Order: sequence, then structure tokens, then C-alpha cells
Amino acid sequence: MTDLKSLTQQEITALLQTMGQPAFRGKQVFGWLHKGVRTFEEMSNLPKPLRDKLAAECILTPPTVARKQISQQDGTIKYLWELADGNCIETVLMRYHHGNTVCISSQVGCRMGCAFCASTIAGKVRDLTPAEMLDQVLFTQLDSGLPISNIVLMGIGEPTDNLDNVLRFLELVNHPDGLNIGMRHISLSTCGIVPGIERLAELGLQLTLSVSLHAPDNETRTRIMPVNRAYDVESLFCACHEYFRKTGRRISFEYAMIDGVNDQDWQADLIAEKLKGMPGHVNLIPLNDVVESPFKPSKRVAAFQKRLESHGITATVRRSLGGDIDASCGQLRRKAMEAAKKGVDANL
Ligand code: SAH
Repeated sequence: MTDLKSLTQQEITALLQTMGQPAFRGKQVFGWLHKGVRTFEEMSNLPKPLRDKLAAECILTPPTVARKQISQQDGTIKYLWELADGNCIETVLMRYHHGNTVCISSQVGCRMGCAFCASTIAGKVRDLTPAEMLDQVLFTQLDSGLPISNIVLMGIGEPTDNLDNVLRFLELVNHPDGLNIGMRHISLSTCGIVPGIERLAELGLQLTLSVSLHAPDNETRTRIMPVNRAYDVESLFCACHEYFRKTGRRISFEYAMIDGVNDQDWQADLIAEKLKGMPGHVNLIPLNDVVESPFKPSKRVAAFQKRLESHGITATVRRSLGGDIDASCGQLRRKAMEAAKKGVDANL
């Protein structure tokens, strides 16, 4: 069975031509898929025999809403989607002045093991297909009725651990006959997989790369991010400098402030030293309290920001949205999984 929505328009056209169809059918089918039809039957301008043939040979895997939480504070909407195989993933819709932004997942679970993150606690189950990433954008837009202009790949999963599918998703979501969301409206966040950063640098896409730094020294970073054993701080910054040289794009460094762990002035000074020669931007994130984690939010966010700024580094503090719902990545899925284990309703 062919996962039709994961194919590019060219590939769909080629496939339809093998079924004896004229070339224009590719554009038609692609258009239907990217409008969010749930069945081939809905593709009303296709001949009935073609609709039947597609239904027999191809699959569509639209997700269904398993849970939906709406923040009373700021209108943030969190979706728990059930995928065709029963797995669940999260998508968050945030409403900013510059447009509605969706934060999408790239994998079911995650195998990166960051000590402060809820998404990785039960490990990785599988990669998401390009269609499953696209559907998060598409069905969030359809369900909420809110037009989406920006995408961040910052939900569950490590995008560079599923890079082929992520690149294909980017091509799909960028297509003028589809959602047509420009690369400059897309951010991709990585925990620091160096070969992934190098591959993105080679491609020279106009997206924004976010690097989850969280500590500028190997001792601290290894303690909270196991990925640092494979790609240490030196190799990570080497890849980041190379990325900037090749693409000319400023990297955004994510930094979740953890009490007594990574919030000391010397660590701000070290960030400044590592960033020399590159216009980096540091995004300070007040740590989201994850019940299972021993780490607590830092009280030094403003002081740390000042210290970075004293070195001429732009540092912003991320405004936290959806504080009254489980809007930080992995938390809603975790709750649902725990409840399923106990055989009770999560009462979300
Ligand atoms: N795997 C990718 C993208 C998903 S995580 C990455 O690591 O970048 C998205 C961001 O949320 C990352 O910067 C991650 O480190 C951060 N994050 C995870 N758990 C958090 C928590 N409890 N509080 C604050 N930020 C968290």
C-alpha cells in the first residue's frame, strides 16, 4: 500500500501515469490531499474507477483528536492526536501577534534521553511519516479554524533523528499547491546531532535552526543531555559556526534555565566565548516542571539574561504559553499513557 500523502506532487503524477492517467491528475490529487480529505471518495472531480483504484492501492492515515485542551489564559490549544496505528502524539497551536504557530512532533516518543524532558521518558516508539507531520499542521488548522502561518519542529521527537522524513515534510508543506508555508516561517530544533546540522548546512534551507544548548560546558551538558557524549560542546559549536558560514542564517540557542545546574554567571560567560564570530541569539526558557524530573526552575533567569547582554549577546526570555494546560512537550502524551497503564481515564 502506498502512503500517498507522503509523496511529492511529481511522484504522485508519475504514479498516476503508471495507472494510465493524464499528467494533470497529479496536481488534482495533490491538491485534494493537502486540503485534508479523509477518503479518496471525497476527491469528487476524479473518475469513479480512479477513486476506487486509489482506495485499493493507497492508504491515507488521517489522525483523530484523542484529547484537546484550550488554555483559558491565552487561547493556546493542545491536541493529542491518535494516529492510524493507535499511537498518540502532541501538537500545540500558539497564537502570537505575528501569526498562529504550530509546534509539531517528529517522532512517537524520543530516544535522546534529556534528563529534564517528558517526551523521552518512555523512549522512542517510531518515526513519523512525512504525511503524519503534514497532517498535524493541516488538521490543526481545519479543526481550530485558525489559519496557520508558522511551524516549529519542537514537539515530541528529534527531527534530525528522522531527517529524511522531515526534509520531505518540509518540501510538502512548502509547496504552492499545498499549505505553501515558506521556509522562513519554519524553525527546526535539534538537541545537537552534528551530522544532522552539517546536512542542513549543506542544503542551505532558509529555515531557522534552533539548537538546544542548555549548557556550554561538557560536564553539565553531559549530565543533562546524553547526546553530549556523542557530540560534545566543541564539536557542536564547530558545526554551528560552519552552519552560519554556509547559510548566513543566525542560529537560535535554546536554554532551559535549571536551578543550580546551568544558571551560573560563569556559564553565561562561557556561552559568550563560544559564540564569538557568530551572531547567535539565546532563548532563555523558564524550565517547565516535569513531575518525573528532579530539576527545578531557576530563579536567576533575569540575572543570566543581563550577564549575556553584558557580552553583547541578544538574549530573550521565552514567554510561556498554555501554563494552565499541559502544553510543554510530552506532558499530555505522558499523562494519557500513565492513565492507560492504570486503566483509568486521565481526566484531562
Ligand atoms: N528534540 C528537539 C526538539 C524537541 S524539544 C530538541 O531537543 O531541540 C523542544 C525544546 O524544549 C528543546 O529545546 C528542549 O530541550 C526543550 N524542553 C524539553 N523539556 C523541557 C522542560 N521541561 N522545560 C523547558 N524546556 C524543555
